Amino acid sequence: MKNRRWELPAVHRILDETAVGAFEARVGRAGVKRVVDAVLDRVRSSGTEASFEAIVASVLTRLHELAVETPSPLVNATGIILHTNLGRAPLAPDAIAEVERIACGYSNLEYDLERGERGSRHSGIAAALCEATGAQDGLVVNNCAAAVLLVLDTFAKGREVIVARNALVEIGGGFRIPEVLERSGARLVEVGTTNRVYLEDFERALSPRTALLLRTHPSNYRIEGFTHDVSGRELAELGRRAGVPVAEDLGSGALLDLAEYGAEHERTVREALADGIGLVTFSGDKLLGGPQAGIVVGRANLLARMRNNPLLRALRVDKLTLAALAATLRLYRDGSAAERIPLYRMLAASLDELRHRAQAYASAVPSARVVESDAYVGAGALPQSRIASVAVSVGTPVPDELAKALRSGTPPIVARIDEGRVVLDLRTIAPAEDELVIAALSAL
Ligand SMILES: *Cc1c(COP(=O)(O)O)cnc(C)c1O
Repeated sequence: MKNRRWELPAVHRILDETAVGAFEARVGRAGVKRVVDAVLDRVRSSGTEASFEAIVASVLTRLHELAVETPSPLVNATGIILHTNLGRAPLAPDAIAEVERIACGYSNLEYDLERGERGSRHSGIAAALCEATGAQDGLVVNNCAAAVLLVLDTFAKGREVIVARNALVEIGGGFRIPEVLERSGARLVEVGTTNRVYLEDFERALSPRTALLLRTHPSNYRIEGFTHDVSGRELAELGRRAGVPVAEDLGSGALLDLAEYGAEHERTVREALADGIGLVTFSGDKLLGGPQAGIVVGRANLLARMRNNPLLRALRVDKLTLAALAATLRLYRDGSAAERIPLYRMLAASLDELRHRAQAYASAVPSARVVESDAYVGAGALPQSRIASVAVSVGTPVPDELAKALRSGTPPIVARIDEGRVVLDLRTIAPAEDELVIAALSAL
């Protein structure tokens, strides 16, 4: 029964609201009207009453979403190098150039030039991954979560996966190992306790139903104190003896040693493979410094089974991702990754260099002073992966308002607030951005 006791407001009444009209300059008059129509349509079909103010608020929210182009560039002054909310790893110029070269025309994405017939999009990148990591074979999917899902779906559907209790964590974005396991139709067998896990715990849980032994990086979480863990090597050895594949979700996927950059050592892909782990999963846009992707490297016989999984078709990556990833991997091959990949350049910047740049800020902005700071690797790398850094700290009676004003600029600048001061860490600001950040601060 549509016996409405209330009337939807007329379109022109909403258009006459000053805040609504203000969006005409940004999305056009027709654009504003389409949003109003869409919101009224939604209210009408929901069948529930909404006040005039609530409808205008919905219209404004939608207009705002439409007017703010997403994604659009900004300045990361947080000091968190791989900031998950700010797009994680910036690409190397070489990867950007390769994306452009491939994007504007046709390519041999799935074409074998020698035979003149259909080829595989997976073969070229597999060779590059093997070279970069020392693995027997490699595969690329949409992201690391998809890589883990594909591993579980391929090996453990309807069977058991043994995981240590200390690994059952949620990492950012609601990615929880137990839930991914459940989705894949595998049965989780938890062993050990939250703080202490021994190899015997895994041994005791082995059964004819065991499909996989899984090790995961605790990501942005840490258990300290009275602890015991099973090493990758021990687990790989147990898997070999029991004839059960062993997978490790590294997440970050470091190919270089972070300790050389003054951060905590992060287990590298090569180390995991050298320990004998059969399948190693990691992200393309964390410590690798490439595009969003999920990478699986490991034993050829295991990868072959994953390649035959029909789910791979739904998780596959496009040519632009492959182009950027291949170009990024070539930098590792040439030994120029550390100079060319932005995240390693940020990590390598010396304190003197940062201090020198910060002085320029302090001389131009009277309320700014140069301070010591801690930058972070971020993106689920070790949480204590802190790197000494230098920041500009701006004194203001209204830090929230200053931070908001910086975020509203073009481009927006995202800073952090520390003890009532607005702090901009120089490590994540590109030197080429200094001038515009100084201009924005001066203007405020
Ligand atoms: C970040 C992370 C993931 C998820 O990676 P995405 O590429 O964001 O899907 C999975 N596992 C671990 C351990 C991670 O750190």
